[in-house]
Amino acid sequence: MEARAGQGLLRKRGVILRRRDSNEGDRSIYVLLREEGPVWLLAPGGARGKVRFGGATDPLVWGTFHIYRGPNRWYLREVDVRKDFLLLRRYPSRIRRAAEWAASLVKYTLPGHASDDLLPIFYWSLSVLESGRLREDLADWRFYWRWLRSWGLAPNLERCQGCGAVLGEAFFRGESLLCAQCSGDSHGVKLSAQDRGELFAVSVMNHEKILAMKNLHGIDPVKVQSCTRMLVRTLSDRV
Ligand SMILES: [Zn+2]
Repeated sequence: MEARAGQGLLRKRGVILRRRDSNEGDRSIYVLLREEGPVWLLAPGGARGKVRFGGATDPLVWGTFHIYRGPNRWYLREVDVRKDFLLLRRYPSRIRRAAEWAASLVKYTLPGHASDDLLPIFYWSLSVLESGRLREDLADWRFYWRWLRSWGLAPNLERCQGCGAVLGEAFFRGESLLCAQCSGDSHGVKLSAQDRGELFAVSVMNHEKILAMKNLHGIDPVKVQSCTRMLVRTLSDRV
């Protein structure tokens, strides 16, 4: 009994971004759902009877959510777990990073507006993070760069934004990269040709290539973090 609009039962795939339990023992999860965007699902009594859902209502759980759409609220009936990223939870820094990504998705996406393009980006970024094949700072950069690219906001990593020249060494200023001539006196993160090449490679490589890669990057993690912070700023400016 699927219902497209109004009340009724529906099943949607998605990922849990947040979980909140009330003093009364009700559980709410904030789920990024395919075709629906981020939505709160309420499970009355769900925080009391932990047996009922087990780990299926933990953040970062991917699955099919069985939902009853009521007149005012959406209710969670069941979760078919597809992937729970349990391995990720064994590494404190990786799970922290994943939690930050989930928090960004909460912050920078609109409730009730579909963001289907972000689902595969998030899923494969978590897979890359879980695998440990890519340095965490670079996995972080890659997640945000791919997110911005899907929104048409990612900086071009190959050409100068000012003059269009193919870049060697470059200055990164958030929404763009500039060559030495165009950057003038303005500040930015200075990237050697090799730094820029590494950022470019991890940004555009698909996850299969990343997962098969040997970890040979030389770019300074502090530099990567500075660049990633600028990507996040681009996101926050946009919302
Ligand atoms: Zn230039």
